[in-house]
Amino acid sequence: MIIDAHVHAGEYYRHYSAAFAQQMTATTVMRPEELSAPETKLMAEMDSAGVDRVFLIAFDVRRVEGFSVPNEFVAELCARHPERLTGFVSVDAGTPGAAARLRHAITGLGLRGLKTAPCYLHMSPADRRWYDVYETALELGIPVLMHTGYTPSRNADARFFSPLLVEQVAKDFPDLTVILAHLGTPWTRPCVDLLARHPNLYADLSIFGSYQSPTTVAEALSHARDSGVLDRLLWGTDFPFASMTGSVARMAELTRDPGLWPPGHDPLTPQEYRALMGGTAAQLITPTAFSPTHPPNR
Ligand SMILES: [Zn+2]
Repeated sequence: MIIDAHVHAGEYYRHYSAAFAQQMTATTVMRPEELSAPETKLMAEMDSAGVDRVFLIAFDVRRVEGFSVPNEFVAELCARHPERLTGFVSVDAGTPGAAARLRHAITGLGLRGLKTAPCYLHMSPADRRWYDVYETALELGIPVLMHTGYTPSRNADARFFSPLLVEQVAKDFPDLTVILAHLGTPWTRPCVDLLARHPNLYADLSIFGSYQSPTTVAEALSHARDSGVLDRLLWGTDFPFASMTGSVARMAELTRDPGLWPPGHDPLTPQEYRALMGGTAAQLITPTAFSPTHPPNR
């Protein structure tokens, strides 16, 4: 089963502000219109890439950016495709009632994970205002996917980009499953080292896996394997900011071509490839979390 662990719901004209869309595309080859991932485009991309399931992310940055991709919108999409979409709620701990909104989105709307965007909200992931949100996530038994690393958004606060800020959270909530998005790009090596020291930490390869050279990706995966954390990495794209089809092809190349790997390092074994491409992600979403709106896939 192939699971893309990092996919954005949301449409340019319907959700994102024009200013945000322009910033997100200013340093890439994308046009603002291409940030839109309406239902038909998402499902078609999954089909053509052979992706079975995605973690579909809401995005509440209203306090800073003036817009949100609402939890209700994501829940509606997931309810229409329960066998293929697993929704992640987004809350802003800088506004009152964040923990209650999280609880409602999980128990009432059927979403199955939490996405946080600390740097977009001008807060460290270790800011105490998040702590009752983390408590609630722990109690609900859901994983927390945190943005870590760079973002082109000029409104974001670069002081909170570093994946190392998550260490305090890992220590204070040793039983909370935390996924560091984008492998902390560009701090990918410190990110892997952090995973090695905290067994409750995972990381996704979105953006990094799609835009860095295959040899750079192979180098990071080698370091993860040497550090004993390869089985805590999750393939993901950040679609529509990167293509699923292109990324799946790239990952397949990494299993085939030994020339892409550092000397003395073998390409991904079939077992490592299966874990990376979805096996590990499937384990983070408990079987009960697939019901009632999310029945098990096949
Ligand atoms: Zn993202």
